[in-house]
Amino acid sequence: MDGKLTLEVVVPQRKLLREEVDSVTAPGAMGCFGVLPGHTPFLTALEAGELSYRINGDTRYLATSGGYAEVGPDTVTILAETAEPAHEIDLERAQQAKERAEERLRQRDDEEIDFSRAQVALQRALARIQVTARSTS
Ligand code: ATP
Repeated sequence: MDGKLTLEVVVPQRKLLREEVDSVTAPGAMGCFGVLPGHTPFLTALEAGELSYRINGDTRYLATSGGYAEVGPDTVTILAETAEPAHEIDLERAQQAKERAEERLRQRDDEEIDFSRAQVALQRALARIQVTARSTS
C-alpha cells in the first residue's frame, strides 16, 4: 500500500493532467473499478461517468466520457474522449443536454430516434452534473 500511482489523463486535444496519486476509481465498461499501487496490469474500455482520485486524503473528480484505461503496477493512463474537472463544466449546458436526451428517450416509438445514442448522451450529461455537484457539496 506504500507508494503512489502516476495518473495521466489524456483527451484528444491535450494532456489534461499527470499527478502522483494514492488511488483511482474509474467508470469501466464492465463496472466501476478501483486501483491502488501494485495493481495487476489490465486494459479496459470506459463508459461516461465520474473518475475520482485521491491525493493525500483529498478526493478530486473528473467527468469523463468513453475511452480506455490502461493500468500498470504504478501507473493509470486514461485516454478519454472528453474529461472535465468541475470548474470547466458548464452546468446549464449539461442540464440542457440531459433534457434533450430525456426527451428523445421518451419518444421511444419514433423510429427516427437513435435510442442508444440518446442513452449515452444522457450518461455524459449526468456525469457532468454529478461532478459539478461534488464541488459544491
Ligand atoms: P452537448 O450536447 O452539450 O454538446 P455532448 O455530451 O454531446 O454535450 P461531448 O461530445 O461529450 O458533448 O463533448 C464535446 C466537447 O464539449 C468536449 O470538448 C467536452 O469536453 C465539451 N463539453 C461538453 N459538454 C460540456 C459541458 N457541459 N461543460 C463543459 N464542456 C463541455
